[in-house]
Amino acid sequence: MTADPPDDARTAEIAGNLAAVRDRIAAACAAAARPAGQVTLIAVTKTFPAADVRRLAALGVTDVGENRDQEARPKAAELADLTALRWHFVGRLQRNKVNHVVHYADVVHAVDRPELVTALAAAAERVRDRPLDALVQVNLDTDPDEAAHRGGAIPDAVPALADLVAASPALRLAGLMAIAPLGADAGPAFARLAEVAATLRADHPAAVMLSAGMSADLEAAVRYGATHVRVGTALLGGRARPVG
Ligand SMILES: *Cc1c(COP(=O)(O)O)cnc(C)c1O
Repeated sequence: MTADPPDDARTAEIAGNLAAVRDRIAAACAAAARPAGQVTLIAVTKTFPAADVRRLAALGVTDVGENRDQEARPKAAELADLTALRWHFVGRLQRNKVNHVVHYADVVHAVDRPELVTALAAAAERVRDRPLDALVQVNLDTDPDEAAHRGGAIPDAVPALADLVAASPALRLAGLMAIAPLGADAGPAFARLAEVAATLRADHPAAVMLSAGMSADLEAAVRYGATHVRVGTALLGGRARPVG
């Protein structure tokens, strides 16, 4: 049970945005001949206050995403009473933050290097009573300079990284995550991602989660099989400071 949403202008604004985003997801599912309800909305709440997360939860949002530990940790603590809410850590993760993140995150999206798998597994083993869901981030940039900047494992590196996650008892290999390259058409990138996902599932049939698509490109992501879209701006409005 969640409380009724507060009856204020901000709640009305978010409710309208949420209805529009849900319509976009439903239309994208219909266009792709995928069952409605196959795509889960993750509301990316970075830079917005805990009160907005509370509004989203009261409006029926079940999954929220954050990308910086410094911000996510106090927010998750303030909202600890919302026990049904699933917290997704969607940002790049530094090893010195994993001991915090394993406490409040249900899913970590940007696993992209062996040292991070090892650190996450050790931390999760120490503090969690059930495995932490982990997604291997796939880099879809064709420009190597961009690739270095945006994180993610190159497609060729994904199988070994996935095997390493799957071999860690404190982690559960849930699937893949990707961000479309900047300034390029998302469609071809997400088509490549779908191929990487198919290869992964051949080896790890339970790793079916595919986190792709944001405010600007969720339709393309749904067309290529996304099971989770990460939407910030279209739900909550523009962010005051750029956060990558
Ligand atoms: C901020 C962020 C999003 C949401 O982006 P919008 O364009 O605001 O929808 C999605 N994924 C990640 C990893 C992010 O950092």
